[in-house]
Amino acid sequence: MPNFSETHLEIDLNALEHNYRYLRSKLKRGTKFLGVVKAFAYGSDCIVIAKKLEQLGADYLAVAYISEGISLRKGGIRLPILVLHAQPQGYPLMIKHCLEPNIYSLRVLQKFLEEAKKLKQSNYPIHIKFNSGLNRLGFGTDVISKIKTLLKDRSEVNVKSVFSHLAASEDVSEDKFTLSQIKLFQSQANLFSENLESRPFRHILNTSGILNYPEAQLDMVRSGIGLYGYGNEDRFDSDLKVVASLKTIISQIHSLQPNETVGYNRAFTSAQSRRIATLPLGHADGIGRQYGNGKASVIINGSKAPIIGNVCMDMIMVDITGIDCDEGDEVLIFGKGHSAEDFAKTADTISYELLCGISQRIKRTFVGD
Ligand SMILES: *Cc1c(COP(=O)(O)O)cnc(C)c1O
Repeated sequence: MPNFSETHLEIDLNALEHNYRYLRSKLKRGTKFLGVVKAFAYGSDCIVIAKKLEQLGADYLAVAYISEGISLRKGGIRLPILVLHAQPQGYPLMIKHCLEPNIYSLRVLQKFLEEAKKLKQSNYPIHIKFNSGLNRLGFGTDVISKIKTLLKDRSEVNVKSVFSHLAASEDVSEDKFTLSQIKLFQSQANLFSENLESRPFRHILNTSGILNYPEAQLDMVRSGIGLYGYGNEDRFDSDLKVVASLKTIISQIHSLQPNETVGYNRAFTSAQSRRIATLPLGHADGIGRQYGNGKASVIINGSKAPIIGNVCMDMIMVDITGIDCDEGDEVLIFGKGHSAEDFAKTADTISYELLCGISQRIKRTFVGD
């Protein structure tokens, strides 16, 4: 269906390339690079981003769910794809599309072995995840011998890698904990690899891990947010380039008299005369109500215009008093020059949530190649 909305998420593929090369420059030769493209490549566009990463020479991709991996295959992506939260119901389709599961518990290991046998697989690549302290998904150290027993003489599968995930790699005050996670993972990986014919490769770092713990890059790193231009810290953001910019136009301008109110529940009352602008996007597009009532601002002709009143489903009103602008003028919600991290912070959240929440209703456009 054609999308006639002026609101669009502009995706800069040159910025993606810059970030990829920048992150790669932090790695030793031979360290593999996995690009994380879950949740529509952090709200941008999974197929276009995956294609670009494939072109740039990424070694691996990761998604969260099997359905996301299937979309990538249908979009022509050939790279190996790790499915971080593959659930057993989807295993037959996962195998059909050559997607590689994260195996994180004895339950899913048994199910996967059954399915691989039923479908007459041999050496099907799987990835064993260890819990090193995040307490989300992964095997504990106590079951390593059990895993090895279950895998013994099971030629249906091949453990291609072992991995873990850090809990606070962006937070230097948690340095001690992060180092203990890295150490624990190494001992888990050693224990698992003992007496194995082939040594599975190892990975634990996400973007902030690459930036803060380069000595732990092991055999591969997994980067998401950094590829999209955010490094979880100002000093890293300046080396990265913002990929996604959410843009729209002014639909209508109103002049308010003192004591007039704006929007639902009359949440904003103007003490003095003001000019306000209505924008064609709202909480159904991913700009939630938490950004309303003076919290976040948008940029119009270089000036900050705060969101006033409650964010509606399909519209937002902003205060443009003192800003030289007209109906039809461009508005930057967040992006290049007005970071998603700063926008997100106004409502106590993080760039990840804001970016991934941009609804599929919003058109994606592309610049660069
Ligand atoms: C999402 C995710 C990543 C990517 O993290 P970033 O902070 O975006 O780089 C890496 N590994 C796992 C297991 C993930 O779930």
